[in-house]
Parts: sequence; C-alpha cells; structure tokens
Amino acid sequence: MDSVAPIRHGAASRSLPRLVVGNWKLHGSLAANAALLAALDGGASDCAMAVCVPFPYIAQAQAALRTTRIAWGAQDVSEHVAGAYTGDVSAAMLAEFGCRYALVGHSERRHLHHETDAEVAAKAMAALDAAVTPIVCVGETLAERERGAMQDVILRQLAAVVTRLGDAMARTAVAYEPIWAIGTGRTATPAQAQEVHALLRRQPQMSCVPLLYGGSVKAANAAALFAQDDIDGALVGGASLDAKEFLAIVHAAGAHA
Ligand code: PEP
Repeated sequence: MDSVAPIRHGAASRSLPRLVVGNWKLHGSLAANAALLAALDGGASDCAMAVCVPFPYIAQAQAALRTTRIAWGAQDVSEHVAGAYTGDVSAAMLAEFGCRYALVGHSERRHLHHETDAEVAAKAMAALDAAVTPIVCVGETLAERERGAMQDVILRQLAAVVTRLGDAMARTAVAYEPIWAIGTGRTATPAQAQEVHALLRRQPQMSCVPLLYGGSVKAANAAALFAQDDIDGALVGGASLDAKEFLAIVHAAGAHA
C-alpha cells in the first residue's frame, strides 16, 4: 500500500500531490454514503484525496472507491495488535480493508476519550507497522492560545510522536487543527495557520512530512490557506459531507499545486 508521496518544503519546490482528507466523524448511513461517494468519484483533480469514514462503513468505501483515485481510511486505530481490547480496531484490520490512512490524536479523541500523547504516538507506530499512513493531529485550545501556550502544546504533542517514530516520521502526515476552529465556523487566518505550519516544518524529522490544516476549511477559504508555503493540504470535517463543497476544496488544492 502506498503512503503519502513526500512533499518538499516551500511553494517553489513542491513535489506534489497535495492531499485533502475528509473526516466524516460520526455521520453517515449506507444510503447517504452511497450518494456522497458516487458524487466524489465524479470530481477528478490533480490533488490526492481521501475520506476517513466510521469503522462500519470502511468496506462500503472500499467497494465504492477501489477503482477510483480516491483513498479511504479510518478515524482512529488501536495501539494494540490483538488481544482483550474490546471495541478496538487494529491497524492490520484496517489494512485488510484497504485503508491507506488512519487519523490519530484527533482533538475529539484526545479530549472526549482522554487519549494521551503517548497513546497517540503508539497508535501512529501501530498504523505504520501495518503500512497504514497515520495522519497525526495536533492543536491547541483557545485557552491555551490565549495564555501563550500554543507553541508548547503543539510541540509537546508532536515531540511525543517524533520521539517514538524517529526516521519513520517521513511516512506520516501531520494535521494542525486549532481546536477553537474545529466545527466552529471560525477558521485560523492563513497567516495564523502558516505561522504554526512553519514552526512544525522546522522541527526535527519534519522537513518532508505533508502538513495539513484543519478547522472549518470550506470552499470559500481554501484557496487562501493553500496559497501559504507550508500548507500542503487540508483535513476537512463538516464540509467533507457535502460533495460539491469538498470537491471545491480539492480543486482549490490542485490549483495551488
Ligand atoms: C475535523 O474534524 O478534523 C475538522 C477540521 O472539522 P471541521 O472542518 O468541521 O472544522
């Protein structure tokens, strides 16, 4: 299974594809998914794209997308390979269903399910071990940003994964998702996002890691975000449930390739 093609730093030296990933969260039904997946298939672009769907719908995504250029993945993965872990889904299981990606450390997992930095790092490692590309999510709360702790929080979250993965970090993607911008309609400005992406890029092992921005990305703000040097793509929640909106984001990414 392919992992993400390395993307070099800076607009002038980009070696694409860009990557736009939809995160369906806890949404969908067989009928709604069928319509959405069929509509996505119609929208070819130079930009690589993927959808991360709820576990029960992975087989449906595989059946609908296997002959397309669209990849699919999961929204979480167990850090364990097998055993008495009720409710967990292993990376090898995801790989059996053709998943190319697994989100790890999404803020909703960190906060609602109390996932620690160490668990997120272990999940990223487990995904890589099964040739599933982890998309490692990092981001600060509004309170953390306002008290000047944004940099510390993000670098702490990242360091946990980099320390665990080492050189294998090059086979991941990282998504910067300021929590105050997720599902709120409040997007980081392109300059705010670029500032954090540039910071991430400067960290050890990060020069070739695709950096996605997430947080209320939509067709209307995508182009300005993708115009930033260190924004290589997007992780899209709400707007990924609307094929027209999601494809417009994908096209905006392709246009800035
Ligand atoms: C997300 O769920 O990762 C996300 C960025 O959501 P939204 O685009 O809805 O803010």
